[in-house]
Amino acid sequence: MQHHDVIIIGAGVSGLTCAKYLNDYGIKNILIEAADEVGGRVRTDEVAGFKLDRGFQILLTAYPEAERLLNYNLLHLQAFRSGALIRLNGAFSVMSNPFKEPTQVFKTLFSPVGSLSDKIKVLQLSNQIAAEPTQAFFDDHATDTLSYLRAYGWSETMIANFFKPFFGGVFLENELATSSNFFRFVFKQFYSGDAVLPAEGIGAIPRQIAAKLPANSLKLNSKVRKIEGNSVQLMSGEILTAKHIVIATDAQNADALLGRQLERAFNTTTCTYFAASRSPLTEKMLALNANRLSVVHNMCVPSDIAPSYAPEGQSLISVSTQGLDLFDEQKLTHKIIAELTDWFGEEVKTWQHLRTYHLPQALNQYRADAPPENLQISKNLYECGDHVSYPSLNAAMATGRAVADMIAGI
Ligand SMILES: Cc1cc2nc3c(=O)[nH]c(=O)nc-3n(C[C@H](O)[C@H](O)[C@H](O)COP(=O)(O)OP(=O)(O)OC[C@H]3O[C@@H](n4cnc5c(N)ncnc54)[C@H](O)[C@@H]3O)c2cc1C
Repeated sequence: MQHHDVIIIGAGVSGLTCAKYLNDYGIKNILIEAADEVGGRVRTDEVAGFKLDRGFQILLTAYPEAERLLNYNLLHLQAFRSGALIRLNGAFSVMSNPFKEPTQVFKTLFSPVGSLSDKIKVLQLSNQIAAEPTQAFFDDHATDTLSYLRAYGWSETMIANFFKPFFGGVFLENELATSSNFFRFVFKQFYSGDAVLPAEGIGAIPRQIAAKLPANSLKLNSKVRKIEGNSVQLMSGEILTAKHIVIATDAQNADALLGRQLERAFNTTTCTYFAASRSPLTEKMLALNANRLSVVHNMCVPSDIAPSYAPEGQSLISVSTQGLDLFDEQKLTHKIIAELTDWFGEEVKTWQHLRTYHLPQALNQYRADAPPENLQISKNLYECGDHVSYPSLNAAMATGRAVADMIAGI
């Protein structure tokens, strides 16, 4: 039987972050991971020379925890042009970020996406929350995002044409039922930093954190079956003991390990990838569809942002569809091709389908009445991960660090 100071179950971003800070504090730990690689929901597959992130994901460089933890230079981050292309009434309109591209303000203010007053309100909110520290967002009173937007005075047109497509893509739900405090937090991150992809794929983020851990402190392909007191039993039957145990799994596995019965609800997304001989977009931007009844909710060309996502001379197309309960890969692929042929013409029919990632439990639903964060379950048992906080990389990192601090007595 092996004994450790700390056992961390799960090598997603939260578990890796916890391990990294424990090591900084000189506290020995071992990470036990069920999968064959680190990263959890943040992984990248190589397929025919393309880098396919498991679901479309971006890093927001303004995330305070990411700034503290990651070496951005070594990730060779490649930025999207700030703002978005909105597909509306058969054409694209540009919504640029006035703080990044002041010369585009005029164009954006008068685009058909919303009224002048709507766009001035965007600037107003950006100014109001520019200096707000992260915790303040989550300590504030919250409602659902849709009610918040209406109460702030945005028009139904602006909500339908901009907020639903943009934040629907962030929350992975189209109704904007997600808590307004998360909306305000994410809004600030978009307006104050860049939306980026690491050159080697989103999976480079957990790999960078893992690279800082000592050799032999990570056990892959090892699912934990149960926790009993200060011991952990793996599926193989192996038993490990520790002074402290940290559960850094996803919500459902945490519930199973704790014997906890909680009603959980998740937001679902499906990401379909295609190889194309050239990019259909002329801007390095995310393209959002104002028509949420279609199957293309947002699309982008990751290889326009980070050319290493595709082999030379080819482009990688990523299409996201939210909330598909009934999933039929072939049908979805055909529908996407049909819709995008309407957008970009017959060349879409030459695209090669590469792979589809259907993620029914991509994010935990995060509502205004979410229970307060609880990181300590009992004296020596802790829990971290986005499911105990809000659904974002920043929360996974923040809770991982907070648990390390608690164990170190900081
Ligand atoms: C499609 C998609 C898009 C997203 N987009 C963004 C985005 O743009 N920006 C953003 O900030 N966030 C985004 N997120 C959210 C972000 O990915 C998550 O918040 C974050 O990865 C959660 O990390 P975690 O460590 O809490 O959990 P996880 O990543 O779920 O890690 C849990 C780990 O525990 C392991 N595990 C589970 N059970 C056991 C067991 N019994 N024994 C051993 N190991 C176990 C799992 O294999 C896994 O590796 C997105 C997520 C998805 C899925």
